[in-house]
Amino acid sequence: MPDSSRMESIVRRIAARYGDDPRQLLQMLRAVQATWSWIPPHAIALLAAHLQVPPGEVRGIVEFYSFLHLAPRGRYDIYFSDNITDRHLGSRTLAERLCALLGVPPGRPRGDGVVTVDFSSCTGMSDQAPAALVNGMPLTDLDAARIDEMAELIQAGVALEAWPREWFSVRENVRRAGSIFGTPVADGTAIRQFRLHGADSLLAELDRSGLRGRGGSGFGTARKWKSCRESGELERYVICNADEGEPATFKDRVLLTRLADSLFEGMTLAGLIVGSQRGFLYLRAEYQYLLPHLEGVLARRRQLGLLGNDVQRTGLAFDIEICLGAGAYVCGEESALIESLEGRRGQVRVRPPFPTVRGYAQKPTIVNNVQTFVQAAQIAVNGSDWFTFQGSPQSPGTTLVSIAGDVERPGVYEYPFGTLVGDALADAGVRDVQAVQVGGPSGHLISPAEFGRRIAFEDLGGVGSLMVFDASRDLIAVAQNFVHFFQHESCGFCTPCRVGTTVLRDLVDKVAAGRATSADLAEIEATGEVTRKLSHCGLGQTAPRSLLDSLARFRPAFEARLASRSDDPGFDLDAELSDARRIRGAAVAENRHE
Ligand code: SF4
Repeated sequence: MPDSSRMESIVRRIAARYGDDPRQLLQMLRAVQATWSWIPPHAIALLAAHLQVPPGEVRGIVEFYSFLHLAPRGRYDIYFSDNITDRHLGSRTLAERLCALLGVPPGRPRGDGVVTVDFSSCTGMSDQAPAALVNGMPLTDLDAARIDEMAELIQAGVALEAWPREWFSVRENVRRAGSIFGTPVADGTAIRQFRLHGADSLLAELDRSGLRGRGGSGFGTARKWKSCRESGELERYVICNADEGEPATFKDRVLLTRLADSLFEGMTLAGLIVGSQRGFLYLRAEYQYLLPHLEGVLARRRQLGLLGNDVQRTGLAFDIEICLGAGAYVCGEESALIESLEGRRGQVRVRPPFPTVRGYAQKPTIVNNVQTFVQAAQIAVNGSDWFTFQGSPQSPGTTLVSIAGDVERPGVYEYPFGTLVGDALADAGVRDVQAVQVGGPSGHLISPAEFGRRIAFEDLGGVGSLMVFDASRDLIAVAQNFVHFFQHESCGFCTPCRVGTTVLRDLVDKVAAGRATSADLAEIEATGEVTRKLSHCGLGQTAPRSLLDSLARFRPAFEARLASRSDDPGFDLDAELSDARRIRGAAVAENRHE
């Protein structure tokens, strides 16, 4: 631990690197974490005083994000990906093996401060799982032999730079490419269309294309950009949501790797159209390893005059900066993401007003995801007819789907909207499928009877991913994993979500442990409905979805796990029911006051 004056000088240097701007507090805290492997109380006090932010607020930010810590971590800080597909491929067993070899309990640093072995919801590598992060760097395709070698390197104190390079290689795994991957946007070609035709014409073209946001909500992209452009304010912002936190979804990782230029071209186009001078790429912490690549692409684009004070001789200024998240799934929600970008906890804002009216710095802001910006740039260059040639009338174009789990060929697949789920599964190579989770844990669990449903907004929704479970998988363990995930990620802002996800977690744990009764199943349905209907944002509204789907479609699996409670002399059905109803009633009543 450095002495107080040395810490002060380091903290001041970190703050200066971020312009002493309180809105960059999260980035400063990330830098403090990287310097000392934790956020010491004195660093919190120094930052708070320096930026004139209450110390309690700074501490609250540290507590909110999974990758910031109020206690020291090991010099090798390891997080195993804990999503259900990683678990099915053995991530828990491998983590236990590493803990045993190193003599360290999970979640806490070893006594000598050398190593911490912990879990993270999903590192975004489900196509090359089991995966982990070590000091922010991804480790893929882990197996027992690799774990043994890692333990030896750690015991010997070998620096990460000297570990075998191939351990850190991340494959793109693009298994089916269409117009998105096949039509990268050449430097400046979308911007040239802006110069030639102007904002109104390009907005009309985007409108004709029917491009809908690929982040899940499916909101019309042209409508969003138009609303921002027509706001009366002079100061406006463009944000790319690269916080791909939905477990087992990894398509943005591939776009950021392969089509970063097309993405930045799309963001620049958006900036010119809506009249913004500043854009942000909010990159999930798990993709920190992509930072040098992305910064390199931005630097090259500045050199080419595609960013800067006079973007490609338009007389207009626009530039992009990259901000890293720190581990919070809720920051995938646009208003929570903006809060996070402003250096605070990622708490969902009350809407309206929507970000296009009052977003970053309370100014009009558009937030779109990576794929949306890439496709907007492609449409500007190739035209709306090129785009609508594929897809369905309500869902034109193609989209990317991450496919993982029990498949022979996990990876990213590009499909025209309207493609049958069954066709996508056949491409990925499946056998004896029991169920498929569509669109991540917040989406729907479907049975083989529904494989004739379509990847389309008018049917299953945007569908960023398919998680496949074969007949050997325990669907109650799957539901349990998802419910625990949501309970952990709930930001706690509103009661139905905060209480509802906790009650659902306890109930599904009871089912998994064979202690539940049919009354508990009824309570899962009732609590799920309350949570879904009364929660403030998409996280709470979708948190119970997969569990309710499981119960509706695979009820016999739940019933087979019930305890025979009539044999239990201590069991009081009326007492259990009234207890559960009391909790649910409290959630409803408290919500009325919020
Ligand atoms: Fe936070 Fe959940 Fe409420 Fe969303 S629904 S605001 S995540 S508590």
